[in-house]
Amino acid sequence: MSDYPASYKGRFAPSPTGPLHAGSLVAALASYLDSKARGGKWLVRIEDVDTPRCIKGMDIVIMQQLAAVGLFSDETPVYQSQRSPLYQAALDKLIAQNKVYGCSCSRKDVAAAIAKANPSAKPRHGELVYPGTCQHGMTQQLAPSAQPAWRFITNGEVKSHIGDFVLKRADGCFTYQLAVVVDDALQGITHVVRGADLLDNTPRQMALQQALGYPTLQYLHTPLVMSEDGEKLSKQNGAQALDTSNPLQTLNIAAQALGLGQQNCSVAQALSTWTSHWELKRTQFS
Ligand SMILES: [Zn+2]
Repeated sequence: MSDYPASYKGRFAPSPTGPLHAGSLVAALASYLDSKARGGKWLVRIEDVDTPRCIKGMDIVIMQQLAAVGLFSDETPVYQSQRSPLYQAALDKLIAQNKVYGCSCSRKDVAAAIAKANPSAKPRHGELVYPGTCQHGMTQQLAPSAQPAWRFITNGEVKSHIGDFVLKRADGCFTYQLAVVVDDALQGITHVVRGADLLDNTPRQMALQQALGYPTLQYLHTPLVMSEDGEKLSKQNGAQALDTSNPLQTLNIAAQALGLGQQNCSVAQALSTWTSHWELKRTQFS
């Protein structure tokens, strides 16, 4: 695929739904070090496609947090909220190739169809595996002004574990899954380094890459940072915003989570030392 650069390009892609916390810095640092250790570029992308949950101005806060710990994007950050035409073009391509179908089911309809098909079925991670009700024609008549959701036709493990997932919702919003796959391909991303909590997304995104004729990326998943009570740190369960008043200390904590040694020097020197130690460390992750 000569359309895509062969050189390393990585990315960190936060959602502006809250400030970065200790866990997000681990993911940012890992992707940064992986890029720099291979002489590659590191990009920041703002994943604000899911607009209702995004907080105005939070993109700036996140950029300031990253700058405070010496992590700067090598290209001007792109915003998913400004890229809808690109996502629509990808969806149109899939529609033309019959790789998606329109779905008129409400959440209630999906739950009812699942209960009918398999009374003992339980949601996995709170997600319902869509049983493909609308694949051969929508079951409910849509109101004249209403739009269907668009579902991607899955196969194999993705079909049985996740089901035909939504690329564009009935409210017109593109989903994270579609936006990420399109952006990664169009930005020439070659490697994705992210927290193990996103491992579930990888098979879905690889299936979409294939359907769209994009190259398959290399994935690496880093360990999650747990809070003292053993919960995954996340914005949803109220993880504290990253304290950047002592940048080196903050970075040392993130580096420790990745198994890197503590540094007592400037932020720039610390990042450079960790970059030179990274190649050995990365082999511990998968
Ligand atoms: Zn449906």
